[in-house]
Amino acid sequence: MITIQNKNELRKYAMQKRNSFADSGVLENKSSIIIQKILNSSEFNNSNHIALYFPIKNEIDLTSLLNLKDKNFYLPRCNNNELEFVKFEGFNLLKSGTYGILEPTGEKINPEILDIIYIPALMANKMNYRLGYGKGYYDRFFAKYNLKAKKIIIVPFELHNDAFIQDEFDFQCDNTISA
Ligand code: ADP
Ligand code: MG
Repeated sequence: MITIQNKNELRKYAMQKRNSFADSGVLENKSSIIIQKILNSSEFNNSNHIALYFPIKNEIDLTSLLNLKDKNFYLPRCNNNELEFVKFEGFNLLKSGTYGILEPTGEKINPEILDIIYIPALMANKMNYRLGYGKGYYDRFFAKYNLKAKKIIIVPFELHNDAFIQDEFDFQCDNTISA
């Protein structure tokens, strides 16, 4: 367990750790285990409106879930430094956005319809607080709305870190899924 507390130091550590997963097939393996956990969860099976994310920089890849036809999926989009969610209507309708992340091009939805939001993270602690890339997109989004959606962090086990102390503006999520 590492004991660094500074967020920027932790981000560097987490990025390096994730890079080490990339080549060896570890990331694919973790992604498929987490997908199985999601598919086996009652919260997923009981939900209809589900937000995922398009992976970058060795994030866990959940995008094969987007092929399921019996759920409505949504992806985040950065607009004027704020997060919004847009319905996924097919891979061919995604376009590279602000950070080079593939984003849907349709109308933003009312996020109050969402049942679950799966959130990528660099790290998470046992209280379900997440460390992101440092722009606070999800923190600001969750502070703006009072969402019923279950907020679930997706992060490798190796990047659980209870030395990470959240700031007061960090938003507490409901659960963390790891592999
Ligand atoms: P991340 O969550 O991406 O790891 P941080 O938690 O470090 O990033 O947050 C980045 C910045 O976002 C903070 O320095 C803070 O100023 C801003 N921020 C976070 N939450 C809010 C909020 N609810 N309202 C306004 N600014 C916020
Ligand atoms: Mg934060």
